Amino acid sequence: MSGQTPDNIHLELVDTHAHVSFPQFDHDRDRIKAQLESGELSMLIEVGTTVEDSLRAMEVFKGVKNVLLSVGVHPHESDGLDDRGLETLKSLLKDRQVVAVGEIGLDFYRDLSPREVQKSVFLKQLEIAFSFSLPVVVHVRDAYEEVYEILRRFKGLKGVIHAFSGGPAMAGRFLELGYYLGIGGPITYRKNDGLREIVRLTPIEKLISETDCPYLPPVPFRGKRNEPLYVRYVVEEIARQKEMDIYTCSKQLMYNAKELFTPDL
Ligand SMILES: [Zn+2]
Repeated sequence: MSGQTPDNIHLELVDTHAHVSFPQFDHDRDRIKAQLESGELSMLIEVGTTVEDSLRAMEVFKGVKNVLLSVGVHPHESDGLDDRGLETLKSLLKDRQVVAVGEIGLDFYRDLSPREVQKSVFLKQLEIAFSFSLPVVVHVRDAYEEVYEILRRFKGLKGVIHAFSGGPAMAGRFLELGYYLGIGGPITYRKNDGLREIVRLTPIEKLISETDCPYLPPVPFRGKRNEPLYVRYVVEEIARQKEMDIYTCSKQLMYNAKELFTPDL
């Protein structure tokens, strides 16, 4: 174990945003499953980005302890979603392991699907989440204003703004709507004082821990593949910013994840 924490303290490590069914994990996915079965990782939410990989994620993690699933179509992939795809998504939501719709949203930075298509696909999936009373996992890049204006129309819908990268004013507006902020590896980046400030300003009850693995590895793993257990470095930094001990912080983050994703359990 690293950091200042004694080995004998059990941390509740929760990664609410992972893509372990991606090919980058083909050679060692079993090791990650074993960490989940043993409780070394307390909870993982595997997040789909297309209908196909949502289906693959369900296959890969069927029955694996401590794993929940979110299914949905990423804004980059919006262009490929037809009515049949939407029907398939709806049918997946009936599975007991599926607890959320995502990742969905708008990405006007990379613009890999036309903006109008992204908006329409985002709306359709929000309607589905709303009708199933499920939380949403929202991806936003260069479209905070647009996403905010859309989400505020869905009163009562809950969710997380994954990999939050907006400013304090925008953070405040999403918190006011009842959304959580998803915090991952970028909080450890030297130049990211802005995100550390957001974390200090946000009540700990509204933060959600995540990795987005295989992407966004924390320090000291930059340039390498990220993986769920590295969420520990995120939790350590959140604890530092909130001036909490890491054990209490990890428990609170676990509680938050349960509140959002499994309120009935
Ligand atoms: Zn993601």
